[in-house]
Amino acid sequence: MIPETQLRADIVEVGRRLYARGYTASNDGNISVRLDAGRLLMTPTSVCKGFMTPDMMCITDLDGRKLVGDRDPSSEMQMHLEVYRRRPDVQAVVHAHPPTATGFAVAGIPLDRAVLAEVVCTLGSVPIAEYATPSTKELPAAVGQYVQAHDGMLLANHGALTLGKDLFSAYYKMETIEHFARISLVARQLGGERLLSREEVFKLQDLRGRYGIAAPAPICADPPPGGDSADCQVVQAPSAPGQRLVADYEAFPDDLAALIARRTHAPGSVPADREIRLTYGELTALIEDAVRNLK
Ligand SMILES: [Zn+2]
Repeated sequence: MIPETQLRADIVEVGRRLYARGYTASNDGNISVRLDAGRLLMTPTSVCKGFMTPDMMCITDLDGRKLVGDRDPSSEMQMHLEVYRRRPDVQAVVHAHPPTATGFAVAGIPLDRAVLAEVVCTLGSVPIAEYATPSTKELPAAVGQYVQAHDGMLLANHGALTLGKDLFSAYYKMETIEHFARISLVARQLGGERLLSREEVFKLQDLRGRYGIAAPAPICADPPPGGDSADCQVVQAPSAPGQRLVADYEAFPDDLAALIARRTHAPGSVPADREIRLTYGELTALIEDAVRNLK
C-alpha cells in the first residue's frame, strides 16, 4: 500500500506533467487514485493541474461523498467513480484533453488501426465513447460502455481517459494515446498508414501473455456480433501485411474517380484510405465543371 502522502505528491507530479505537455489548458482535466478499498484521492475542481499542491486533494468514498478536503472534488468525479465500480483492477484514472488525440475525438475518428506494435500490445484499440455533456450522469454512462474492455478511450468532442494499475501507468497511457494520435495524423498526411496484418496482430496478442502485459480484454480483428464493445478490443487489421484500409472505387462519383486515377497514375487502382487529396487547382476545376453542368 502506497502511503497517502506519496500519492498526494504523485498526483501533483502527474498534474504538472499533463500541463507541461499541453495535455490540459486552464483548469481542464482530473486525476484520481484508490487510497484503499473504500476511498479515493482526487484532484479538486477549478484548479490548474500544473500548479497543484498536495494539500489541495479531496478524499471521497466510492459513492462520491467527500470525506476530507477544503475543496470540492472534480466535476468529472462521476466518470471516475464509474470506472472504479466497473474495474476492481484499476487503481488510478487520468482524464485530459491532449490536442491531437482530442482532434481525433472531435473528428469522430477512433484510434483503432493496427499500426504500432507497442500500442497494439498495451492499449489494443482506443475507441470513442459517445458524446455526453461533461459533468452530467450521461458521461459515466457513455464511458461505462467501453471501460470493461479498454484502458484508454477518446471521449467524443471532449478529450481522453486512461486507466491504470497505478497513477503513473494511467498517466503513461495518456502519453501513449497522444503520441499515437500524432503519428497517425502524420502518416495520414503522408498518404495513409500501412497496417499490420491480422496475423501480426495475433502474434502481438501472444506477446501480451509471454511478457505478462495486463489487458482487460483480448484483441479481435472483427467487431463482435451486435457491435458490443464490452468483450474485446477491436483493431482494424487487414488479412495481408502492409495493406491499407481501402474504400470502394465505385463509391466515388465518376469524374472524381477518374481524377484520382490520373493523379495516382494507376487507372483502376483504389485510392488509399477514404481520404481524397486534391490540389487547389484540381478542386477549382471540379467545382467549375459542376457549375457548368448545372447551367
Ligand atoms: Zn474534460
